[in-house]
Amino acid sequence: MKIEENVQRPTSNSESFREQAVQRSIQTLFEQFVLPTYARFDLVLERGEGSYVWDVNGRRYLDFGAGIAVCALGHGNLEIADALNEQARKLVHVSNLYYTGPQARLAKRIVDLIGPGRVFFCNSGAEANEGLFKLARKFGNQGPSLGNRYEIITARESFHGRTLAGIAATGQEKVKKGFEPMVAGFRQVPFNDLEAMRDAITESTAAILIEAIQGESGITPATVEYLLGLRSLCDKCNLLLLIDEVQAGHFRTGKFHAWQRILEDRPPDFLPDGISMAKGLGGGFPIGAFWVREKFASVLGPGTHASTFGGSPLACAVALRVLDVIQRDDLAANARRIGDFLIQKLKKLQQQFPTILREVRGVGLMIGIEFDPKLKAADIVNRLHEKNLLTVPAGNSVVRFLPPLNLSQYEAEEGLHAVEAVVAQLSRP
Ligand SMILES: *Cc1c(COP(=O)(O)O)cnc(C)c1O
Repeated sequence: MKIEENVQRPTSNSESFREQAVQRSIQTLFEQFVLPTYARFDLVLERGEGSYVWDVNGRRYLDFGAGIAVCALGHGNLEIADALNEQARKLVHVSNLYYTGPQARLAKRIVDLIGPGRVFFCNSGAEANEGLFKLARKFGNQGPSLGNRYEIITARESFHGRTLAGIAATGQEKVKKGFEPMVAGFRQVPFNDLEAMRDAITESTAAILIEAIQGESGITPATVEYLLGLRSLCDKCNLLLLIDEVQAGHFRTGKFHAWQRILEDRPPDFLPDGISMAKGLGGGFPIGAFWVREKFASVLGPGTHASTFGGSPLACAVALRVLDVIQRDDLAANARRIGDFLIQKLKKLQQQFPTILREVRGVGLMIGIEFDPKLKAADIVNRLHEKNLLTVPAGNSVVRFLPPLNLSQYEAEEGLHAVEAVVAQLSRP
């Protein structure tokens, strides 16, 4: 079938007639052939360069979403393209039946950035969390005489992925609805509430899993006291402390992981027992990973876990290049500096328009702007599209900034102008 066949003809015969026809034809193909699991925005994107993307109509947008915290170096990055090209000519994939250099080097790099431990590679955030769930189950399975601990306590408003265990772990009813019965062994307590966590622990509990900064529900950082309290609770009760850094990690907050940023002024003896990673790790190339503290490195032994694609030479070579560039250009410092600037400016705007902007939260380049609950996040994101800015909705009425880590001061200001324009629009009766 020719793509053009089902095109609905635009009524106006404008100059962009052809482009609009391309947009319609692509959207029609989606309507016919792609499962309708996403409520997509009315944009068809074609190419990108740095912090900008262009749609098929040639219109340019500043991208403060970066593929939901994925494109750490922005779009069309030539160093990523070179890494892909160089490695693809050598070896794209071999099975984990063999050793390969890029996986070895990336594992060491990740361990150097976290602490003594080991890494398992997979392909996504949900899979990385799945690995942590299996780690917790295996750890809790003490054999017939000692009994079985299997429960993982997570937080309300959390997000841990869309697999069956992921939605059971996630503290949001909307992702579970219709998929019951839930995978057993997960329950949720309020976030940043140490008492609630302590009260929820039973003799079946094996682990606690939290995000250092809750992302999908609207950017809520864990407090210092919460992280330290969970660590001592886990030590006392012999539980694994697991942290989901899929969204907040990979230098977005100014440190490799968000828990490291939150605890940066504390004595450096804190370590979680397991950490999941994905989104920004490959700068857009799909890769997931989880790190396990050295003490628990033998829990998942030979034959207990596997992934066909996990840790391929191609994925690992790209992730290594992304880390090289982030460290060479000190993009952690950039994320911190530009993030501080954005947060400070947004807080000023919030004080100017307190009924429209309820709160500004965030760390580094992970920022949430909470609007009046009467305003819907998707509606504000659409208004920002009108001003050529891409952002990501979260929760009910939060708009997220998750831009590339190499965002410039000029681009930050351009994004702020778009927000100011929309807030001014909303403030007019
Ligand atoms: C996005 C996300 C996931 C799921 O990652 P996928 O790659 O979509 O499977 C898990 N946890 C957190 C905190 C996330 O933001």
